[in-house]
Amino acid sequence: MPPTPSATQPINVKLLLIGNASVGKSSLLLRFSDEQWLPEDESSATIGVDFRVHKMDVKGKRVKLSIWDTAGQERFRTITSSYYRGAQGIILVYDVSNRETFDALPRWYSELETYVSSSVVKILVGNKLDKEFSRQVTSAEGQEFAERMDSLFVEASAKTAVGVKEVFTDVVEQILDTPELWDNAAKGRDTSSGNGGVPGGVQVVGLHADNTQSQDSGCAC
Ligand code: GDP
Repeated sequence: MPPTPSATQPINVKLLLIGNASVGKSSLLLRFSDEQWLPEDESSATIGVDFRVHKMDVKGKRVKLSIWDTAGQERFRTITSSYYRGAQGIILVYDVSNRETFDALPRWYSELETYVSSSVVKILVGNKLDKEFSRQVTSAEGQEFAERMDSLFVEASAKTAVGVKEVFTDVVEQILDTPELWDNAAKGRDTSSGNGGVPGGVQVVGLHADNTQSQDSGCAC
């Protein structure tokens, strides 16, 4: 009998966080991967998180997530095509208390059209849900826009942790439901040892990945 997927190599999945500066991308990543929240006045230090590796079991499969943060590149409008390379899932973040960040979404989606295939799973995240008192974008607006853009939708708060786990599990579940995405990843892993199944990836060592498998990092380019 062939081994079950969970008994073999994990499926490598690369996720990207994008969205305007200060919407909470680094905070969501830290909250999810480290169960950490840095007080607002300390969080400028999070710029430069880069990426985290996180293992999870979803639908009976072992999944090894590399989650990439822009590390502030968006401030200079210089997100490069190499950042997008090999991604199977994109997490687009806006701030529910800042309409400008919601209005900027079409620009992010058009960038995606340029750089990633249409089968890549997208999830729209309305972050800072805890700031209900100063909300500028309704849930219905977020949901409606996500549907139009063929994306999943979650509202979350990196501060209170509400919705954060769902962001990552929902996107991974949909990736697993789209075999062409992770079959490609598996092919990449088999044929290009050292890039962690991330097509176009390069070897990166010494970042926050588990140290025993540092060859599984994605592309920093
Ligand atoms: P990034 O530039 O998108 O990575 O955003 P950061 O993660 O650096 O967060 C920008 C600011 O928003 C920081 O002051 C964070 O403390 C704050 N922030 C991030 N997420 C939340 C949240 O869910 N709720 C609240 N109230 N503030 C948040």
